Amino acid sequence: MKIVGIPRGLFYFYYYPLWKSFFVNLGAQVVTSAETNRLTVERGIEAMVDESCFPIKVYFGHIRELCKNQIDYLFIPRIVSVEQRSYICPKFMGIPDMVKARIPNLPAVIDTIIDFSKDKKLMQKEIIRTGKIFTEKTSRINDAYKAAYQELQFCKALAAQGYTMAEAIHIWEGKSPPCPSAVAELRVGILGHGYSLYDERVSMNIINHLRLMGCKVILPESLDKETIENQAATLPKRVFWTLGRKMVGSALHMAQREDIDGIIYVACFGCGPDSLIGEIIERKVKNKPFMLITVDEHTGEAGLLTRLEAFCDMLKRRRKETFANHLPTYG
Ligand code: SF4
Repeated sequence: MKIVGIPRGLFYFYYYPLWKSFFVNLGAQVVTSAETNRLTVERGIEAMVDESCFPIKVYFGHIRELCKNQIDYLFIPRIVSVEQRSYICPKFMGIPDMVKARIPNLPAVIDTIIDFSKDKKLMQKEIIRTGKIFTEKTSRINDAYKAAYQELQFCKALAAQGYTMAEAIHIWEGKSPPCPSAVAELRVGILGHGYSLYDERVSMNIINHLRLMGCKVILPESLDKETIENQAATLPKRVFWTLGRKMVGSALHMAQREDIDGIIYVACFGCGPDSLIGEIIERKVKNKPFMLITVDEHTGEAGLLTRLEAFCDMLKRRRKETFANHLPTYG
């Protein structure tokens, strides 16, 4: 049985159920790297140039870990676009080349081109090209993809209920769901690229920390897609990055919701799209407390906790009726 390694980074947090099911349906075995830890980060930093963003460094760390295992293939898709008229950060396009240039002795790389911006037939061809590594039967490849797509929908439905995509993947894999938090005193909207937010090492476990502080966390995946698009469409120029548009639309929607006390944006140091999207959101969201947190490999959890505690204290003060109308959004 062929073994395919899927690094636990970047679009793993959006598409792992689809990718894993697809390969398993074709008779392969799938292995992933461990959850991001100190060693992952160190390995990634060693392999990648300093100027790169944090999530890319982490991704390299995962690949180096996987390469230590006996795997036949490494799945590193070349992601261009996941929907029409929109694109993903250009770094995703070059990832297979960057990996081949920086990491020696790689197993065979499956670099499926994911590009939904053009004709759907091109995507269909790529699925068949990838599937043919495992079987010659086109019908089997198509069936494998259709069944895998349903698995992804299951996880998306869980995310729509308020689970993070990482938690949804856990549940999908048959692990127990996280315990529901005690009664939430505050409701906080959290924005950021999924691979930063849902990777507990990259985001410094921000979601769980907020939950422990008595917050119910509202994530973009739990919001209605049409609402997000409508809000994003109010900007004078269309944001052509899929994830950037999702964050702007989510932020504008959250800003209008009475039940949301504040918004936090988790940005990555060295990320071009974050520097622009974070700025747009900061300028647009005037009526609610907003905090921008930039993370990188040097970020410490203690410093983050202090900022979160201060932010939550300020939200609680604003909640007190006597003060609410007098406090500015910064507290
Ligand atoms: S969007 Fe930002 S964080 Fe994501 S890969 Fe591109 S530069 Fe890195």
